[in-house]
Amino acid sequence: MQAMMLKRLGSPLEWTQLADRHPGQGEIRVKVDACGVCRTDLHVIDGELPDPKVPIIPGHEIVGRIDAIGAEVEGLRLGERVGVPWLGHTCRVCPYCARQEENLCDRPLFTGYTRDGGFATATIVDARYAFRLGEVGADVALAPLLCAGLIGWRSLVIAGKGKKLGLFGFGAAAHIVAQVARWQGRSVFAFTRPGDAATQTFARSLGATWAGGSDETPPEPLDAAIIFATVGALVPLALKAVGKGGRVVCAGIHMSDIPSFPYRLLWEERQVVSVANLTRADGVEFLRLAPEIGIVTQTTRYPLTEANQALADLRAGKFEGAAVLVP
Ligand SMILES: [Zn+2]
Ligand SMILES: [Zn+2]
Repeated sequence: MQAMMLKRLGSPLEWTQLADRHPGQGEIRVKVDACGVCRTDLHVIDGELPDPKVPIIPGHEIVGRIDAIGAEVEGLRLGERVGVPWLGHTCRVCPYCARQEENLCDRPLFTGYTRDGGFATATIVDARYAFRLGEVGADVALAPLLCAGLIGWRSLVIAGKGKKLGLFGFGAAAHIVAQVARWQGRSVFAFTRPGDAATQTFARSLGATWAGGSDETPPEPLDAAIIFATVGALVPLALKAVGKGGRVVCAGIHMSDIPSFPYRLLWEERQVVSVANLTRADGVEFLRLAPEIGIVTQTTRYPLTEANQALADLRAGKFEGAAVLVP
């Protein structure tokens, strides 16, 4: 197998030839057909997350087909299409796992961070954490659902049922969440980098009621806001944008420091919460709903060997929607 591997934090990925591995007990081998590129991959590569496995093969939005099955794997068959998300393994015994909060597990493994991921021609996966994808939809179109979609879905649920929803940072996750929120009958207010007219137009094309810069005030107070951008300064801005009882959800795994702000922005039962990882139940629920919602992902496709270019373009905000690598 071949992979784009991170050998040293902060350095470019390197095209690497590796021995084919056979899946062990409880594992499957997946031939990768598409793997989305996520902001979190940049955090891993930049060394912004604690204790990564290095060298590591990044990538946690994997769509592929099972080409080998290890012992004691149930309910999956050779050739079946599966999706592999960020949550790669949980201990199933810690207090969090015991209360169905496996997203908070004390001893988890994460795909493309603490176990090898999908910037490769093949990957070994703990079979219990793969999702069956069926045959509806193209591989490249489905890949962004595996993280941007799943984390977006969890964030949307945690944002509550309010009708007026703000989305700060209109990238891969927000472009999916906007479609889900519209389907649920909510109004979407999209906040982009100030002056980013192209992304504001993109947000309106996906049904946003209003789109403007993060420095602008929305035309009416919002019920909730989700922050996908990695900018801590957006937290007080989002608090300003929500009305009484409004909730601000921080959806990213990493954020720059949040500046201090006057207590009156939090007063009147406004809340700030974070969303961490996903549970398998989130994935099953979201992937069941996705075809019904009719989510259309906007993707920019790169050959696997061009992973460094895809990452650079993501960092520079050069495309709308999501980048997807194809081996
Ligand atoms: Zn656990
Ligand atoms: Zn991700």
